[in-house]
Amino acid sequence: MMRDDCHVLLVIFPGQGQINPCLQFAKRLLNFGVRLTLSTTLFAIRRISAIPGIDFAPFSDGYDDGYKGPADGFCHLYDSVKARGSEHVANLVKAKAAEGTPFTRIIFTTLMAWVGEVARSLQVPATLLWIQPATVLNIYYYYFSGFQDLFRSCGENGVVEFPGLPALAPTDFPSFMLSKTTTNNVLDWGIQAMKDQIDLINSEENPKILVNTFDDLEVDALRAIKKLTLIGIGPLVPSAYLDRKDPSDTSFGGDLREKSDNYIEWLDSQPMSSVIYLAFGSYSDLPTTMAEQIAQGLVESKMPFLWVLRETANGEKPEEKLRCKKELEKQGKIVRWCTQVEVLQHPAIGCFLTHCGWNSTIESLALGIPVVAFPLWSDQICNAKLLQDAWKIGVRVKANEDGIVEARELKRCIECVMGEEGAELRKNAMNWRELAKSSMKENGSSYLNLKAYVNDVLLN
Ligand code: UDP
Repeated sequence: MMRDDCHVLLVIFPGQGQINPCLQFAKRLLNFGVRLTLSTTLFAIRRISAIPGIDFAPFSDGYDDGYKGPADGFCHLYDSVKARGSEHVANLVKAKAAEGTPFTRIIFTTLMAWVGEVARSLQVPATLLWIQPATVLNIYYYYFSGFQDLFRSCGENGVVEFPGLPALAPTDFPSFMLSKTTTNNVLDWGIQAMKDQIDLINSEENPKILVNTFDDLEVDALRAIKKLTLIGIGPLVPSAYLDRKDPSDTSFGGDLREKSDNYIEWLDSQPMSSVIYLAFGSYSDLPTTMAEQIAQGLVESKMPFLWVLRETANGEKPEEKLRCKKELEKQGKIVRWCTQVEVLQHPAIGCFLTHCGWNSTIESLALGIPVVAFPLWSDQICNAKLLQDAWKIGVRVKANEDGIVEARELKRCIECVMGEEGAELRKNAMNWRELAKSSMKENGSSYLNLKAYVNDVLLN
């Protein structure tokens, strides 16, 4: 039964990596009887399938046909989302109050500290839903709470150590933290957004933060900082892959984009655990030199693969530029987009070569697939370290002195994960899968954590 005295506004950063877990979060809140309005940009909302019981309140960020600029222009997108979104959220909150159906809480995601500020100015309580590991939140927390110099003075071979975190070398830090100049827009934008987030957290009395993780996965990180109450409520993955409460819930429902066809039939025709699945998330374009080395590594491995290669912003098909295109096409399948969770669940998949975006990371844990970790930037760097050293389900590629991950290194990593050496990784991955499933079951830790949050915070 829907409660009249509780109405949550969920404001989401318009990236696939945030929309997907938030839709799962929204469905789970709905199951607890919470009334919900969901807001993000018009472009992102057009790609979301309707969810009965949830209202949508889109706003224009000025990029209604999608942001098509280069990744280093992200700061423009971010500024626009922030400026137009702030106005929209403030107007929406006032309008709903005037209609007599006020929001009783606003929940907002990573990179959206401005929502928390709008909420505070209008005296509506707010909660952050963090869509990266708790470990990464803690790293930013320490960084902006007095330890910045310690991180920045850590030499190439040094490590920093904090309670609840693994020892971290600079090669493990989220890349935003390595910003050295004020001319690099991307990094400055990223680190400023994280600083705003931590400043907001630090200005609260007893901050409670929801995190898309689960207790067994990050038990120490979730409890590391006394001042923060971090609540593990993940993995936010469709129910069909976890608790199976709703077996029809097989995709996130947040990516109504054209999918390549036939890939499941193609997987059906492959031997068990034989296929390498490669994907680099929803927005990063691979530089041609990098794609070339990956392609060579695949050809040399001689194993079947399914590779998500999105068209570039100017409509090019990246494989057209690859020297070994013909061999590649004989050996495996290239697609533009797929339903990743469905692929990861397929028995033919043997390993996932991933950029280690947080969703891809937690999906590989939840579905028990070992990984070759090939991080590009941001939290992905740290996620790769956790995958290899803390959760032990994969190997992380090593770049040469020029920063290039060579084909032979790719081949080495793939063979390590797919071969005999990978037995331990596969066993660990299956173990995480069981723990992830248990956490989402009724009476599992994430289920109970969310239930307590709903009862104590939302419905109170
Ligand atoms: N995804 C998908 N199909 C694809 C590639 C990605 O469904 O072909 C989904 C994937 O399951 C994940 C999200 O897109 O939920 C990507 O999020 P992630 O955090 O891994 O990466 P980001 O896009 O934020 O870099």
